[in-house]
Amino acid sequence: MPVLGATMLAALAACRPNGGANLAGAPPEATAATTPATTPATTPAASPATTIADDPACPGVPARRAPDPSRPRYVMTLDVRPKAATVTGTIDVRFTLDFDTDRVVFRLWPNGPRQRNEGAFLEIVGPVEIDGRPAADASSRDDPTALVLSAAAAIPRGQGVRARLSFSLHLPQPARDRISAERDSVRLGSFFPILEWTPGKGWTDDPPTTRFAEASTAPAADFDLTVTTPDGYGAIASGDLDRPGHWTATGMRDVSLAVGHFATATGVAHAPDPVQVVVGVDADVRESPQPYLDRAIAVLEASSRRFGAYPWRTFAVSVTPGISTGIEYPGHILHGPGTANDVLTHEVGHQWFYALVGNNQARDPWLDEALTTWVEARYEDTVDDYQATAIPAAVRGRTTETMTYWDASDAFYLGAYVQGAQALAALGPVEKVDCALRIYAADNAYRIATPSDLLASLVRVFPNAAAVLARYGIRP
Ligand SMILES: [Zn+2]
Repeated sequence: MPVLGATMLAALAACRPNGGANLAGAPPEATAATTPATTPATTPAASPATTIADDPACPGVPARRAPDPSRPRYVMTLDVRPKAATVTGTIDVRFTLDFDTDRVVFRLWPNGPRQRNEGAFLEIVGPVEIDGRPAADASSRDDPTALVLSAAAAIPRGQGVRARLSFSLHLPQPARDRISAERDSVRLGSFFPILEWTPGKGWTDDPPTTRFAEASTAPAADFDLTVTTPDGYGAIASGDLDRPGHWTATGMRDVSLAVGHFATATGVAHAPDPVQVVVGVDADVRESPQPYLDRAIAVLEASSRRFGAYPWRTFAVSVTPGISTGIEYPGHILHGPGTANDVLTHEVGHQWFYALVGNNQARDPWLDEALTTWVEARYEDTVDDYQATAIPAAVRGRTTETMTYWDASDAFYLGAYVQGAQALAALGPVEKVDCALRIYAADNAYRIATPSDLLASLVRVFPNAAAVLARYGIRP
């Protein structure tokens, strides 16, 4: 019988994404450019526009879509105090909407019911400025994760907007989740006020989840991140470390951060361009970083051959106490002890599906999880095991349910992750499924993709994809 082992455990706890990180305190990879911290990141996307139409095993893959040139640009400062379990921060973000509005909406995910129960609390400090003028807070009491601001003047589509705010985040001590302070280490995911809208549609109002899962639907953005800590601490974050305590990230939907006392290992993945990979294991974990590094590099290289180039120049793994799984963010994944196994394979796999190709995590949580389970299964050679796994009758055919549904179910993993991977396996030979997903990743890079987008890519390889997916309840 198939035994899914650590993957099963990871999913029952549910796993998360991450983004490219680097380590402060380690030698910076480049020190020549001393970009002022107040300058928005304007570096071009690191991702090569891979055209692999000449791959006979997968003909017709289009050039990868580039990030939206008018994507948001965040300049963020963070002061992390592990012993006090606090983070104070500032955000200065410039963005352009493609819809008319009179509001600006930030999502405050630490104030969702799960994180609040654990003891997290995110508070806006002082007025929020929109285009230099204080904005009125029009938030509803019904959803503490939505900071709704009334602009002093209507904001027409296409007009550049600048918002500035300060915030304070109280960290649970500890929590077995993405926001936690435990002894001398801090884990930060989905932790800062973030702009969330669906391009072409409008602000998102999806509810937070009570599961160990994310609800974010942020569009790809650039980040200029400056982190300060007390002396003696290291930090690992999404993006390129260009001088101590300063990262830039290009075309990432979110960024994550870990602070602690890290034993590190570094290497280079050829995915296929060189990717600087750093693993930091906090002193309280007492593991070698090397097995994490070896597997991360191997999965990056194998998956880039199957699904297209890894999109950024750096990738990081932080290992901190208190969680038994991994949590994915673009460029930096947050891991717990003992996870240098298929859990790590899975979270690295999210770099393609969740980080590069985004999706609405509240409405379509299966979309990235099913595809990432496929990435993991291909690397681990466990597609057959997943195909043989029984799906509980209660969730059979319910692959595409929302997080509101899964909040009340104990079969999220089997119903969404495994059942979704089974649907992909039913399409045909594994190499052709890889090819279809490579097309999907190229077509939808740096976007919020939908189930319809997935089907549109799949039918280019499997003309009968709609009928096959419908057997699993997937009807875009
Ligand atoms: Zn996952």
